Amino acid sequence: MGKIMEKITYQIKERTSDVVLPDELGFGQVFTDHVFEMDYNKEKGWHNPRIKPLEDIPMHPATMFIHYGQAIFEGMKAYKTVNGDVVIFRPEQYFKRMNNSARRMCIPEVDNDFILEALKELVNIERDWIPAKEGESLYIRPFIYGSDTALGVNPSKTYKLIILLSPVGAYYPEGFKPIKILVQDEYVRAVRKGLGECKTPANYAASLLAGEKAMKAGYTQVLWLDGIEQKYIEEVGTMNIFLRFKDEVITPKLSGSILPGVTRKTVIQLLQEWGENIVERDITIDEVVERYEAGDLTGVFGSGTAAVISSVGWLTYKDKKMTINNGEPGDLAVKLFDEITSIQYGKKEDTHKWLVPVEKKEVEVS
Ligand SMILES: *Cc1c(COP(=O)(O)O)cnc(C)c1O
Repeated sequence: MGKIMEKITYQIKERTSDVVLPDELGFGQVFTDHVFEMDYNKEKGWHNPRIKPLEDIPMHPATMFIHYGQAIFEGMKAYKTVNGDVVIFRPEQYFKRMNNSARRMCIPEVDNDFILEALKELVNIERDWIPAKEGESLYIRPFIYGSDTALGVNPSKTYKLIILLSPVGAYYPEGFKPIKILVQDEYVRAVRKGLGECKTPANYAASLLAGEKAMKAGYTQVLWLDGIEQKYIEEVGTMNIFLRFKDEVITPKLSGSILPGVTRKTVIQLLQEWGENIVERDITIDEVVERYEAGDLTGVFGSGTAAVISSVGWLTYKDKKMTINNGEPGDLAVKLFDEITSIQYGKKEDTHKWLVPVEKKEVEVS
């Protein structure tokens, strides 16, 4: 991973009026007016880092990633704290994962320290776009794609990295509502040794049909089973899953086909600190049903950057319908949600050093 020695160049649009955010931000609908970009080729490595106005990407129809999917992305968040400070939650964890995805996808890695500094510069410039109402945040979407113009199937020789910023609304505008989940045994998302642990477009393409069918049947998300036997539970849509039993909390161990969530890691660490018996292991859907029957399953929740924690109220597997905790949010899910969001919004001391501050500084307008 070559160090990037070049300085970032700035092409900043002068703002003629204050940023006005819509009342309903939704998710990924509104974008700030600048992006960070850089390019890669074999001779120069990653080069020409720049912050510039957001604009369309002109693209040849043979651009490689459109055909063969050689692309990766990340999703993290910046927050405006109750003191008005701007912070990014565990960015180094997301960039580390981006490089893991890069290796698997034959994409050149990026200097972690450099990209974090570049992100801080971009977020500083766009700080007026960070919404400050309860539950709102700035979603950060870095991505890299193979940009060669050629139809042969092989790794691209050139790449583009872009960081796009999107102010997003509260995930639960009406409060912390449990969701309905369908255990999916007709389709699989990923197989071990495949791409499951990468944030790469193929995984989401593989999940769409199952997601659509589940939605039509009245569910919010699907719970994926392993790709080989459809026996072990893996994860939910864009979240990792946790099951609370009387004597332990279980989350499927990272098998290679599960996305290693940063929120998952955060949850595990907090549960350990709280003295919960948190276990990472394989768990079959049959064991989940058996322990539900025995009255031992007291809570189910998902973890992911978008929602932080999502409580699961209903879980359906074939014709077995399970209602968890009477369809009410479990106390552990609520406690985790409160703890993590309190840290993110600066209401609680960040003893773990999870927040990276974005200092306010002036940037020359070109
Ligand atoms: C992003 C993602 C997650 C959650 O990861 P976080 O780092 O916690 O946001 C879980 N599963 C899938 C498939 C994902 O894409």
